[in-house]
Amino acid sequence: MGDHGRVMCEECRTALSAEIDGEATGRDARAVRRHLSECAGCARWLDACWALEGLLDATGGGR
Ligand SMILES: [Zn+2]
Repeated sequence: MGDHGRVMCEECRTALSAEIDGEATGRDARAVRRHLSECAGCARWLDACWALEGLLDATGGGR
């Protein structure tokens, strides 16, 4: 079993969604990355989030 560090899935996703929104959380970035590399669930979740974000951008989010 891998050590997920101090970042639980929920915390990881909170930080990631902030990052997707363009808000630099700055905190736990390294731990989040590590968690992602070990947690297929969060990796898949992030994938879906970026896909959604891409859709929104394409349909005229206009940044
Ligand atoms: Zn996770």
